[in-house]
Amino acid sequence: MATERDSRAPGGSSAAPGAPGGAGTRLRHGARPASTGPRLLTGAKVVLPTGVVEGGQVAVDGRRITGTAPAGAETVDVTGHWLVPGFVDIHNHGGGGASFSGTPEQILTAVRTHRLHGTTTLVASTVTDEMDLLVRQAGLLSELAEQGEIAGIHFEGPFISPCRKGAHSEALLRDPDPAEVRKLVDAARGHARMITLAAELPGGIDSVRLLAEHGVIAAIGHTDATYEQTVEAIDAGATVATHLFNAMPGLGHRAPGPIAALLEDERVTVELINDGTHLHAAALQLAFHHAGAGRVAFITDAMDAAGIGDGRYMLGPLEVEVSEGVARLVQGGSIAGSTLTLDRAFKRAVTVDRLPVEHAVAALSANPARLLGMSDRIGSLEPGKDADLVLLDAAFDLKGVMRQGEWVVAPQLP
Ligand SMILES: [Zn+2]
Repeated sequence: MATERDSRAPGGSSAAPGAPGGAGTRLRHGARPASTGPRLLTGAKVVLPTGVVEGGQVAVDGRRITGTAPAGAETVDVTGHWLVPGFVDIHNHGGGGASFSGTPEQILTAVRTHRLHGTTTLVASTVTDEMDLLVRQAGLLSELAEQGEIAGIHFEGPFISPCRKGAHSEALLRDPDPAEVRKLVDAARGHARMITLAAELPGGIDSVRLLAEHGVIAAIGHTDATYEQTVEAIDAGATVATHLFNAMPGLGHRAPGPIAALLEDERVTVELINDGTHLHAAALQLAFHHAGAGRVAFITDAMDAAGIGDGRYMLGPLEVEVSEGVARLVQGGSIAGSTLTLDRAFKRAVTVDRLPVEHAVAALSANPARLLGMSDRIGSLEPGKDADLVLLDAAFDLKGVMRQGEWVVAPQLP
């Protein structure tokens, strides 16, 4: 599938250099702009779906990006900085010492932690647990989705393979019985966005069909499927590879397994955890070469320690030790999610992996926005969309975050 091209009229881009904006009041470098009211960000390298605009500008009025600067707009000179769309994380278990399996307060702590790192849209992921606990958590999370704090729920497990369980509790795994899958979808009250499952298990293909019929993304992951079984699952409606390469058989020349099937099919978007631990740089390049920049979504798969640091944490019912930023199960040593934030994934993509900035933006914003069916509101810096944006300095370090027109991180300018 090609990179997102929004259907809105291409003219009148807010980032076109030289757009009218003279009415603005100039703000000194270093001064703190007000968090609301019409604003004009000028002098930036603005990353649009069509490419990078040097010396571009973005106008914001209320919660939206506008085509021209609103009257009386406050000018914020961000010369030398990058402006990219807010990041969209479709697979994230927590951060700031809290998880999406916790209380509403803990869930908000995790959401806010990731917002400070540029994630303006986040799908909350659960881990394998007792069905009734997952049903209860789905109810809690759906309330936060209704309040606009999260963009929905991703259930990772319990319908996954014991052979590829990763950091999921083996005793609680179950086959993907469509009736049970349906139970989680119903409990989420319209906010179930994605379920990761192993489609080769009994009931797997029927469950994929059920999810596709309900408009919920069926994601293939924590799977021991063959190439042929994976093709069957994609034909049944699966459209996402859950952290491609991790928790699935490797690419063999006689047994190409799920990786080949997921990479070659135009209908599939592949998640990648770009933290330098989960993937070798060459595996990331392989995914980009085969899937193309339009079919990759960078995710964090973050757990509680993201945004905090080393120590002992819980991942669902399992204990995790985080050392030098790498999270591993205390029992067995499996990698247990990441401590990644998407600003770091972005910086790594353009500095270590040397991806074009536009490709990093596609993988962090446009592609996941499209997957969620939210491209009309988020995923690019175009007029009419939510003013969700991230300000980065020349070294790609985060210097500001705006969400729905409000500064979550006020611009830190030299
Ligand atoms: Zn996983």
